Amino acid sequence: MSDNNNKIIRPSRDEALAAVETLLRWAGDDPTREGLLGTPDRVVRSYSEFFAGYGVDPNELLERTFEEVEGYDEIVLLRDIRFESHCEHHMAPIIGKAHVAYLPNNRVVGISKLARVIEAYAKRLQIQEKMTAQVANAINDVLQPKGVAVVIEAAHQCMTTRGVHKSGVTMVTSRMLGLFRTNPSTRREFLSLIGNPSSSAS
Ligand SMILES: [Zn+2]
Repeated sequence: MSDNNNKIIRPSRDEALAAVETLLRWAGDDPTREGLLGTPDRVVRSYSEFFAGYGVDPNELLERTFEEVEGYDEIVLLRDIRFESHCEHHMAPIIGKAHVAYLPNNRVVGISKLARVIEAYAKRLQIQEKMTAQVANAINDVLQPKGVAVVIEAAHQCMTTRGVHKSGVTMVTSRMLGLFRTNPSTRREFLSLIGNPSSSAS
C-alpha cells in the first residue's frame, strides 16, 4: 500500500454520490431524469471494484512461499495476464496484459499470487511505467529471487477515445532486475518466451 494512503480522509458514500451527480450535470445532462436516477449509485459501486487495489497489500500476498523446489532454478513465467486499470491523469481505462517472470532462489510462490499482485496494483489509479516497476519491486523484495522481469503491454483509452484519438496503439513497458538485467541470454530467453512484444523492451 502506498505511503500517502494514511493521509487520505475518505468522503462519505453520500458525498461520492453527490460528486457523480455533479459530473453528470457537468456533462450537460439532467441527473433527475429516469435513465440517470440509479447512475450515481452504479458509478460509486463500480469505483469500489475499479479501485479495490488500495485495500490490498501486494507484499502480504507474496509472503507465503514454498521452499521445496527440488533445485528448480529456471525461469518461472506467467504470461498474458489480462488486467484493467485506470490512468491517473484522465481516470480513463488502461487495458492490457502483463508478463511476469522470476528466477527462483530457493523460494517459489503460487502462480495465482503473481496474478493477484498484478491485480492489486492495476486496481488503482496508475501510470503504466509506475505499475511495471511496482510489480517487479514487490516480487523482488519479498521473494528475493535471482532476477525479475515484468513486461506490460496496454492500450490507454485516454489516447484512443480522446486527445490524439490513436486507436490500435499499445504501450510497452518493461522492468528487468537481477539476472534479467545483467545477463543478456536470460533476458533473451524471457523475451522469446513471451513472444517479443517489442524489440525495445529492455
Ligand atoms: Zn491518461
